Amino acid sequence: MSVGLSEQESLRYSRHLLLKQIGEAGQLALKNAHVLIVGAGGLGAPASLYLAAAGVGRLTIVDPDSIEVSNLQRQILYKTNHQGRSKALTASAQLQALNTQIKVVGIEQPIQQVGLPNWLADVDLVLDCTDNADSRYYINQACQQHKVALISAAAIRGEGQFVFFNFKQQPTPCYQCIFPDLADPNSQLNCSNSGVLGPLLGVMGSLQALEAIKYLTGQQARFESQLLTFDAWQMQFNSFKLGRDPDCAICCHH
Ligand SMILES: [Zn+2]
Repeated sequence: MSVGLSEQESLRYSRHLLLKQIGEAGQLALKNAHVLIVGAGGLGAPASLYLAAAGVGRLTIVDPDSIEVSNLQRQILYKTNHQGRSKALTASAQLQALNTQIKVVGIEQPIQQVGLPNWLADVDLVLDCTDNADSRYYINQACQQHKVALISAAAIRGEGQFVFFNFKQQPTPCYQCIFPDLADPNSQLNCSNSGVLGPLLGVMGSLQALEAIKYLTGQQARFESQLLTFDAWQMQFNSFKLGRDPDCAICCHH
């Protein structure tokens, strides 16, 4: 635990310190936080950039993929000459260069292989920035069981989704309650077969970072257990209150 902010930190985060909702106590909470970001793509890039810039003390970035030329349309962590490199390791280097006062670790593996349940006890918050149903269900189940808050976002074509599960407070609905059918391979759309607007990922990933900062600094979350949707073509946000599915295999045990 840190006892206070250094002079350099006070200068660096001065625009946060001016906010009564954050102040020095909030900035110290960010400094002492560990956030796990799963997926260093279109959502993970803006989310991790804002969290690194905000001074979140520890960031762990998990992604097994390499950078491809078609990623550069939206994955704003990466430069043209990064093609072929590991996303997790390149992202961690970029974020570390942005803020040398924090600790960033990149893990070049699928989330299912990193032993997530063993180290969730050391994580304050998880951001699901993945692009596939298997990872989403896996992360949801691990966070639900270990009572770690999860902020999940998704975007495809011109449509974005955002949902915040505060598993520290039980009972709360889970990802499986809301999207029980995504595992059907016939129903899977993804950005490589359907396309996506680049800045839409910026909007949704930034919302993840925004709610992460609010959660870590103890703000009352406004979007817990609600689904927020964004239609980028119509510039329209909608929100829906979520309830638990009494038959959910993950969060409702019989
Ligand atoms: Zn559930």
